[in-house]
Amino acid sequence: MDRRKFLVGAGMGLIAAAAPISLSAAGNATRKVAKTGRLNLSFFPYELKLRHAFNLARYSRTTTPDVQVQLEYDGIIGYGEASMPPYLGESVESVTKFLSSLDLTQFNDPFKIEDILTYVDNVAPNNRAAKASIDIALHDLLGKIMGQPWYKIWGYSPEKTPVTSFTIGIDEEKVVRQKVEEARPYKLIKVKMGLDKDQETINIIREMMPDVPICVDVNQGWNSKEHALEMCHWLNERNCVFVEQPFDKTWIDETAWLRERSPLPIIADEAFQRLADVVRFKGVYDGINIKLMKSTGLHEAHKMVTLARALDMKVMIGCMTETSCAVTAAANLSPVVDFADLDGNLLIANDRFEGMTVENGKITLHDRPGLGIIPIPGL
Ligand code: MG
Repeated sequence: MDRRKFLVGAGMGLIAAAAPISLSAAGNATRKVAKTGRLNLSFFPYELKLRHAFNLARYSRTTTPDVQVQLEYDGIIGYGEASMPPYLGESVESVTKFLSSLDLTQFNDPFKIEDILTYVDNVAPNNRAAKASIDIALHDLLGKIMGQPWYKIWGYSPEKTPVTSFTIGIDEEKVVRQKVEEARPYKLIKVKMGLDKDQETINIIREMMPDVPICVDVNQGWNSKEHALEMCHWLNERNCVFVEQPFDKTWIDETAWLRERSPLPIIADEAFQRLADVVRFKGVYDGINIKLMKSTGLHEAHKMVTLARALDMKVMIGCMTETSCAVTAAANLSPVVDFADLDGNLLIANDRFEGMTVENGKITLHDRPGLGIIPIPGL
């Protein structure tokens, strides 16, 4: 299929074509503007090519399936995307099916965010990445209509963005050394763990970069409480700042046991999905890793930050391998988080957007309206 040809959602093309052409507010009949007054959805699959094979404790891959989305309202276009790492259970097929089942033309006011996103959430359970793609595109659209970037609409100071980490996967020593060289501009390194090379990887990084703080992501890879506690102490002595998802996401009691004893904060990632999990994990984890593809987008992610703060939990904002569209969307929330892991766009070779940048390791937001992204011509 020609990936540039957007698929129009069920029935929407017909409805949009049949909609009347409205006149400008002043009734100026000489300046007709083609306004459908409806939300029109279109989308197409777009395979993300990874610059390096991505090796985690439980699998390896070189591409990520993705669906690119656009929401149009009165000639203004908002962009969104669904990224589907295979372990999350969504696919191009499931996202296409979900998006095709939506009828967003029933909404003639795109500012009814609660109504629109509640409708989308109730169409079918799960499908979190598919739901996020609509939420992200809606935020881009509304920000463009208002002429402001979302971090401003939320009242956040762009100078308060955190540094973002650069991820080093599980790999052979030669590859790890190459990645550490790539990571030099960053002020925070994230290391994937959970296989038999945990200490070896940290030792290589410490030899090459003695002082940079390191976050550790185990991706559910440890299977002994005692080993995990020993590792938390070992990592704490090597200037590590937190440990993410040490155990299987179902190990609630074991995680609470580790959290009580660990000198490092324990952050929930795979175990953490939706807003209600924030309350459930108080006392089990020290903090949460919010990702738009899990939270169903920015609307719920924004509520998660507020709730976690009220419960005195740490907040991290992360991403999947995504284009700068979803990564920049998440970056709009970054001025109010403790940690950011927003390098997903840098791990792919075929980004379709220009968006937030990383300067001296720090997330840098721009003042374009909406999410702050512009499509790269020809992609
Ligand atoms: Mg993680």
